[in-house]
Amino acid sequence: MPTCRNCNGTGLIAISAVCQKCSGTGEIITYDSDGTESMQLCPNCEDGLIYIEQKCSSCKGTGEVVSL
Ligand SMILES: [Zn+2]
Ligand SMILES: [Zn+2]
Repeated sequence: MPTCRNCNGTGLIAISAVCQKCSGTGEIITYDSDGTESMQLCPNCEDGLIYIEQKCSSCKGTGEVVSL
């Protein structure tokens, strides 16, 4: 059976969503008790985006499509 092109045969599709924690910047600014600003990479996302894996709707998660 041919490989599903929609998911490249993985059966999963990654959907990206903007991270709410850092508002899509990928960085979080924190302030120390003395007011010093420091920047941290957001631990919640990758470059401001969160990737959610969903089952591919084209092949229903099998990674293969049935050719007619
Ligand atoms: Zn983030
Ligand atoms: Zn697929």
